[in-house]
Amino acid sequence: MFDNVFVTSNRSKYILINMKNAKSLILSKKSFKELTISIRNGNNIKNLSFKEELLSLLKDDEPVLRQVEPEQSYNPVLMLSYDCNYDCLYCYQRDIKGITTKIEIEDIPRIDSFYDKFCSHYNIEKKYGTIYLTGGEPLLPDNSDVIDAILMFWKENRFIIKTNGSYIFENRDKLLKINCEFHVSVDGVYETHSKRRISKSKDNYKDTLLGIDWALSNDKKVVILSIFYPDNIDQYSHFFDLLEHLGWLKTDNLAVQFSLELNNGCDDICNEYYIEAIIAFDNLRKKDKRAYYISIPKFFPGSGFLIENLMHVKTGEYQPYRCNCLIIPSYSFAPDGKVYMCNLVADDCTYIGEYKEHIFINFNKIETIKKRNIDEMENCKHCDWKLACGGGCFITGVKGDGNLLNPSCGQWQNLKSNIHLQNIMNHILFDVFTE
Ligand code: SF4
Ligand code: SF4
Repeated sequence: MFDNVFVTSNRSKYILINMKNAKSLILSKKSFKELTISIRNGNNIKNLSFKEELLSLLKDDEPVLRQVEPEQSYNPVLMLSYDCNYDCLYCYQRDIKGITTKIEIEDIPRIDSFYDKFCSHYNIEKKYGTIYLTGGEPLLPDNSDVIDAILMFWKENRFIIKTNGSYIFENRDKLLKINCEFHVSVDGVYETHSKRRISKSKDNYKDTLLGIDWALSNDKKVVILSIFYPDNIDQYSHFFDLLEHLGWLKTDNLAVQFSLELNNGCDDICNEYYIEAIIAFDNLRKKDKRAYYISIPKFFPGSGFLIENLMHVKTGEYQPYRCNCLIIPSYSFAPDGKVYMCNLVADDCTYIGEYKEHIFINFNKIETIKKRNIDEMENCKHCDWKLACGGGCFITGVKGDGNLLNPSCGQWQNLKSNIHLQNIMNHILFDVFTE
């Protein structure tokens, strides 16, 4: 009866979630105690005051499919060049750093034509949403002219700039005028940060802090993205000291997110490192309450998908696609003229077209990838974990025999019988239900 139900406690209340239908139920301490007594007495729930809500939670009915609206706007990711002033040890672009071509000013209308072709094929309106600027390091001085042209071309749009932050301050005049948010990679205090983020100048870290400070003082939203390492959790207390000292920790405009080092795609995390990270993060929250300010949506592969479903299911809907890459054409435009469907992995498996020499779109591949959802993938249709896993990362799944529709059970299957799964769920659910 309760096989698929996880329980987590948020100090004053208990949260029950059925993984099979993503429904949740919040109980007071007293009600939860009543429930545990009734379970001990052979699942006799007849007399519970919240019997109806509990039965609804346990009912394995399928929620109604939420169709992603075709008129949804597109958020192109412009990878200006692979050049960077850092040489991070875990950079996923290390193998392609030799590519020296860049997005040039004359490529901007080509990217627009790419979307013209796409929209005319599907007979839909072209509608840009947020424009992502990324690299390499997008704010390098060499990219200054193309950035000006991009800001002009999409002047009505919002920008998200994924950066190491060291040139934010230098670009402040142009950045001040636009609607933008910064996603800045900072791995902790300087000693931690510089262990794996190898920089050509010691000043880069200082410049990053200066840039973030400028952005926050000018009402720009900043998300600090940190790769979490379990080897020395004390370092994170020093990081929180720094954030507190700078007056940033409780600032509404600043979010700090921990994520894990990935190999090939979102599900490809070394299992040993993963388990160590979960234990260390759990200890960190016990040891230093400031860790509760840190969000971990990317800490477990697919937790963003699970969280979305926990939200949607309240209205009787669910999201059938593990990630937006599979259904929304927010494509990544690489500096060499190739177009990829995912901005984390640029390889044959994510390649879907060209925009520089000529416009090419592989519509057959796009259509096949759209079938990668938990309603159409044979293995996933009846899987108890589908609302949490979503069929897994496309890239990890394809790796075996190249079949675009292979499921990628990855971490969910690895951890299903792992004692740390409850621990992981506690952190994910805590963050959802305390927001
Ligand atoms: S396809 Fe989706 S899940 Fe896989 S690496 Fe790209 S963003 Fe992550
Ligand atoms: S990928 Fe595996 S674990 Fe995930 S939904 Fe499909 S069958 Fe289930």
